[in-house]
Amino acid sequence: MIAQIIIDIPAQQTNRPFDYAIPEALDHLVQPGMRVLVPFGRQGHLRQGFVWQLADTSEFKDKLKPIRKILDLEPVLNQEALDMAAWLAKDTFSFLISCLQTMLPNALRANYQRFFSLKAPLSADSPLIPLLDSPLHGKFPAQLDPKLGQKIKLLEQQGVLTIDYQVSQRLGIKKVLVYRNLLTAAMIQAQLIATRANARQQLLLLNFLHDHLTFTGTWADWQEQLPELSRSTLTSAVKKQWLASQEVESYRRPTSLETTETAHQLTAEQQTALAAINPQIVAQQQQVFLLEGITGSGKTEVYLQALAEALRKGRTALMLVPEIALTPQMVNRVRQRFQKQVAVLHSGLSAGERFDEWRRIERGEAKVVVGARSAVFAPLKNIGVIVIDEEHETSYKQTEMPRYHARDVALYRSSIHHCPVILGSATPSLESRARAQKGRYQLLRLTKRPQAAQLPQVNILDMRQADKVSGKTSLSVNLLTALQQRLAAGEQSILLLNRRGYANFIMCRDCGQVIKCPNCDISLTLHQDIQALKCHYCGHQEPIPQVCPHCHSRQIRSFGVGTQRVEQDLQALLPTARILRMDVDTTSKKGGHARIIKKFGQHQADILLGTQMIAKGLDFPEVTLVGVINADTSLSLPDFRASERTFQLLTQVSGRAGRANKAGEVIVQTYNPDNYAIQLAAKQDYETFYRQEMHLRHLGGYPPYYYTILVSVSHAQEDLTAQKIFQIQRQLLPILSPQAVVLGPVPQMIARINNRYYYQLIIKYKQEPKLFAALQQLTQTMQKESGFQLRIDREPLQFS
Ligand code: ADP
Ligand code: ZN
Ligand code: ZN
Repeated sequence: MIAQIIIDIPAQQTNRPFDYAIPEALDHLVQPGMRVLVPFGRQGHLRQGFVWQLADTSEFKDKLKPIRKILDLEPVLNQEALDMAAWLAKDTFSFLISCLQTMLPNALRANYQRFFSLKAPLSADSPLIPLLDSPLHGKFPAQLDPKLGQKIKLLEQQGVLTIDYQVSQRLGIKKVLVYRNLLTAAMIQAQLIATRANARQQLLLLNFLHDHLTFTGTWADWQEQLPELSRSTLTSAVKKQWLASQEVESYRRPTSLETTETAHQLTAEQQTALAAINPQIVAQQQQVFLLEGITGSGKTEVYLQALAEALRKGRTALMLVPEIALTPQMVNRVRQRFQKQVAVLHSGLSAGERFDEWRRIERGEAKVVVGARSAVFAPLKNIGVIVIDEEHETSYKQTEMPRYHARDVALYRSSIHHCPVILGSATPSLESRARAQKGRYQLLRLTKRPQAAQLPQVNILDMRQADKVSGKTSLSVNLLTALQQRLAAGEQSILLLNRRGYANFIMCRDCGQVIKCPNCDISLTLHQDIQALKCHYCGHQEPIPQVCPHCHSRQIRSFGVGTQRVEQDLQALLPTARILRMDVDTTSKKGGHARIIKKFGQHQADILLGTQMIAKGLDFPEVTLVGVINADTSLSLPDFRASERTFQLLTQVSGRAGRANKAGEVIVQTYNPDNYAIQLAAKQDYETFYRQEMHLRHLGGYPPYYYTILVSVSHAQEDLTAQKIFQIQRQLLPILSPQAVVLGPVPQMIARINNRYYYQLIIKYKQEPKLFAALQQLTQTMQKESGFQLRIDREPLQFS
């Protein structure tokens, strides 16, 4: 037998299966989707690869080298995943190996250890004897010799041996102990009687347990409840078996599962939506629904009940959210509703935990998967429904190879699994909304908030005319007064500093020079916290200069407003306010988002100040004021989606106010009070925005009227890069129809990154039957020219 192997080298030259012989010892053991080691290249170094297919013959029959070792005893990717990888590679102009790697949990790329347990001792001549570390337990080497692999497989099939995996933890993951009560009420009574009256600490603990039988938490959580409790009391309670202690990773909130959430009584609009969706789950129809619902209209409830319907029908469900760290409330709601059936996949998990979750899904133990972009590849079988929350979010598009959009992968999988897809958003992408207009998606709308909750009153504040707080150009008296009122009333506020298209940089006031990166054509960004300038493209870092490097003037200043500055200013103006800041600096540590969100949710702060990461999915009933410090910055981006992004951001953040029965107010500070995106976001009027923006896209010939493809080349020499992109243009023009438009070639917005030059062109098209073949051809020919890198990005969300 022959195995066709995809070698683990992401390059055009290796982007095809290579034939290898399957040695006799591995006969019937090697299957598609397994990882193996094979000799590769002239030197014959061992390389990892995936078994792609098995075949009977090969044109190189006699010259074939054999597979040396196997890394798996079971395929790590099933046939659906392999087929999906083939589709994805073609659809996104990616290397097959990059697609295969994307579908695997990180853990399989990290170090992991395999163990085995035996039912009975081995015979003395068994080849497994050297692996034993105790009579019934042993450890495998990471790479299995064919003979050994076969032996193990046989023993496993005979039920003599079971295999277990453990992933060695990545460094830097913090573990904490969580303490949980083990006593029943009656046992506590008994202990209270048996305990001496002067054993104050123990009585304190027992009395607390008596009223809180299910309380679970870290030492800090216990301390919060019982400030006088000493740590040694807690430890000795574990020894006495009053409490159990367990190590968990510090970001995990084991308490979150203690509560359960029950389904709401549906509103009429929610009912209508589910009446359309659920029959399609039952009928196993691939139908896409666009659930367009204003913020706080109860889209989540619709998702949850659709997931429940799929489970009732014995199927599984997949739910994607933009970023797990930013949406802890959403994840908790899913877990509270479906408990142990849920697997959560996110980058905050250690490699080991991610692997555990992945295997729970693979084995069918977890039936609901919640996760960010890459969770769309979760190895679920028999999917009954796929939900994509906040479908307009750009984080669903991967910017590195494979450059896929999770929405497209979800649609692909729904066609394989015959299931409906729900795309949900208050501000759908124009692409999706336009498809609903054409009837390709079914539009479902939620136009009201349930119960008493009202949409907030939005005030647009013209910063050209508004009174500013003295000495603060970015803060109006109105906004400050509104903040003071909330403070006095004991209510909470959220403040957005729109940093999209906006950065802190350093400029000399005398010569006007901006401090730039030595490797890239971009200014360095000021990071106050580490007192350094950093390049966001290549990572170059340097200390903040005291004098201008060009003219030696001391008049060197930072421009732009950072969250840190705003926080300082606010604190000076509102000395009693408790302010929480949420931005890249305060959330870079693991669990940073969750900590801040939890604190704010418990009303331990009055003001949450942050960048766009505060705009999404947060649901705090006590928030009655949302302030937008600078609505405009994202309008000036050189991108045809600038208005759409601004509209989305302002709508989302405004939706954070007045979600419960208290009325909400939003103040939007802007220098463009008449701009339609700002005006319509203030009214939460998506439908009018959609029509107006579609009109402009039509005039400009932009998506969704046209498809777009970005072709970019880079090289260390600028002249060669430019020549190459013009050559590509000459190659493509003859095969394109007159309807297609080629923009460029131009240098990229940041033309030099890490001392490589980037040139690009954009093709706008409607129907180009020859284009894809031509681009595939291009990827083939580019391989022969060294030093060039080619990037082809379908429907890019960034044009720079
Ligand atoms: P969205 O996801 O559309 O922004 P949510 O699903 O977060 O909105 O719902 C907003 C609030 O309304 C939540 O607190 C939710 O619990 C509540 N809610 C949703 N559906 C109902 C309902 N049918 N009856 C009462 N409250 C509901
Ligand atoms: Zn200067
Ligand atoms: Zn740089």
